[in-house]
Amino acid sequence: MAEATPAGAPSGKLVVKNIGLLLSGMLERPILDADCVVAQDGRIAAVGKAKDLDLSGAKTTIDAKGTALAPGLIDSHVHPVFGDWTPRQSQLGWIDSFLHGGVTAMISAGEVHLPGRPKDIVGLKALAITAQRSFDAFRPGGVKVHAGAPVVEKGMVESDFAELAKAGVKLLGEIGLGSVKQGAEAKQMVAWARKYGISSTIHTGGPSVPGSGYIDKDVILEADADVIGHINGGHTALPLAQISCLCEQCGRAIEIVHNGNELAGLHALRVAKELKQLDRVILGTDSPAGSGVQPLGILRMIALLSAVGETPAEQVFCMATGNTARIRELDCGLIEKGRAADFVFLDKAQHSSGADMLDSVRKGDLPGVGMVVIDGIVRIGRSRNTPPAEKVPEIVA
Ligand SMILES: [Zn+2]
Repeated sequence: MAEATPAGAPSGKLVVKNIGLLLSGMLERPILDADCVVAQDGRIAAVGKAKDLDLSGAKTTIDAKGTALAPGLIDSHVHPVFGDWTPRQSQLGWIDSFLHGGVTAMISAGEVHLPGRPKDIVGLKALAITAQRSFDAFRPGGVKVHAGAPVVEKGMVESDFAELAKAGVKLLGEIGLGSVKQGAEAKQMVAWARKYGISSTIHTGGPSVPGSGYIDKDVILEADADVIGHINGGHTALPLAQISCLCEQCGRAIEIVHNGNELAGLHALRVAKELKQLDRVILGTDSPAGSGVQPLGILRMIALLSAVGETPAEQVFCMATGNTARIRELDCGLIEKGRAADFVFLDKAQHSSGADMLDSVRKGDLPGVGMVVIDGIVRIGRSRNTPPAEKVPEIVA
């Protein structure tokens, strides 16, 4: 397992040269005309052609060997508990395994799998604050886990949200996993959360596991949470007409997850495309869950939505990077000056029929991960989980 590095440790100057394809994470310009990225102490300092940039004094130089560089992938929907452990499937090391799937940041939709999870108000607040603190200080393999997402319960009042925000909580767990399942109650809690700078997500569709809830389009429209969580169900989806209606009538983020209904996910993508609102689409796995954990879940979503969803691969990469970063207000996810130097290096998998990496994804193959950098530090080389990439980057100095 890769060593955890404390957040903010200075990494010096990093130079990445010979990039064959630079994916920006920006839907409006998904491919940059550049072959070199320079980072200083974990932040992107310059992007351009190597001949125009100052490459001197690098602590680390990576020769990308013509591979593609994309912003580190962001999983918009996970259910961590503590450490790199999930009690749902009694599995250790799942977050580190996601790193090998190119994921550098993940967002908790609630630490709901904690055995004996407290449901009283003081208990749920204490859990959220503890989870936020714990994952802020512990980053498996360097992966940034944004956690501390309380599952709201009946009886919470405005001062609870003020208190949570003051203590550093920035997210709500999925509305609907606790006792708040009615539109009016959900709307009130979302509004209080928003007032104090806490972003919200709502569960969509049928119950995921026994004890979870059913939330239909009317509740979602009334609640007006920031993210329509797993619009394609987790796994049981709403009727497609309701999904269309959510895309059309609610301007919030459209989250499509791996552990959902694939047909419904493709439908949501199609509607977002018709509305010319692909910038609202973000991707998650909704794992750990009953369906297990998927280290390659985000890459699998990218391949599915590109190949079967007939969407250019470079655009789908934005749904797993820049779209999520913009909607979730994260400092990563885009290749631009000042952003976190979180990168994944990709190439087409060996023996893929695709002409290049993007074409291989468009044909439904998963790309191979050759290296992952977080905060300007090389965390892994060739992934142990993806099919082997044809070309992999090398640290040359
Ligand atoms: Zn859910």
